[in-house]
Amino acid sequence: MGTTADDFEFGRILGEGSYSTVMLAKHKTTQQEYAIKILDKGHLKRFEKLPTALAEKNTLVRLGAGHPGIVRLHWAFQDEWSLYFVLDLARNGELQTRISRMGSLSLACGRWYAAQIVDALGYMHSKGVIHRDLKPENLLLDDAYRIKITDFGTGKILDSGGERTKTFVGTAQYVSPELLEDSETSKSSDFWALGCIIYQMIAGRFAFQGLSEYLTWQKIKQLDYSFPEGFDEQAKDLVQKLLVRDPAQRLGAGPPGSGFDMQALRAHPFFGSINWATLWTDPVPPLE
Ligand code: ATP
Repeated sequence: MGTTADDFEFGRILGEGSYSTVMLAKHKTTQQEYAIKILDKGHLKRFEKLPTALAEKNTLVRLGAGHPGIVRLHWAFQDEWSLYFVLDLARNGELQTRISRMGSLSLACGRWYAAQIVDALGYMHSKGVIHRDLKPENLLLDDAYRIKITDFGTGKILDSGGERTKTFVGTAQYVSPELLEDSETSKSSDFWALGCIIYQMIAGRFAFQGLSEYLTWQKIKQLDYSFPEGFDEQAKDLVQKLLVRDPAQRLGAGPPGSGFDMQALRAHPFFGSINWATLWTDPVPPLE
């Protein structure tokens, strides 16, 4: 008999999505705590979201237990009414909440988180997965305040050969110009989002924000953003090398077919003080 909901003691609700409820749960035999994402089958069917749920599961399965910076799927099962995804518990919630609460992160912490995202993206991309909706709401924090990337519902598994893909997904402030103009995404679109996130962690506000979604998109297309006074110079240089209109010219993105040059990203002077070997074991610098 496989794992079922009966193997867990359910606790409080950790959060709710449009099609899901995420609950704290303790595995009865091991006493290990997890976050269980429960998706109502009827609801999924009604809104034609079954394929999205399956895509999320398949992506998580493909990513496996291979990286500490990516939420791991431990078990997936179902009963008559629901699908259950048993996930790593990220007890400290979303990075977005922290940024909203504190205004911005300390430079040391922003640098650390940027490095953790780079490291996790390197792994994800090496497995042929593009996230496509990277943003601070999808960066969860575990007990030790380390990043865990989540929400692979809009993720894309690249089949062999296919480097680019055409579907409109994403969130206004982090959407890349190529998606707006050609409805095309690639691994490099995740690097655009990374640029937006680094900007936001340090500046405490969105890089691109208009009064409406449409006006935000106009700003993105025109690369209309500016740095606040005192923004760290190395961070600025990195953001400027990520927020580049041509996806092939972004730092970390090699020309099509050449593979991706994560090394160039890791070697950027902003990461000069980062020890990549102990990035997931050293304590995270104070958030503020
Ligand atoms: P939507 O489906 O509307 O895009 P979502 O992707 O945020 O929303 P879920 O992935 O179901 O939906 O997550 C709902 C909430 O539960 C999240 O906002 C998050 O705060 C919390 N949550 C999700 N996964 C975990 C986890 N592994 N550990 C702790 N909390 C989590």
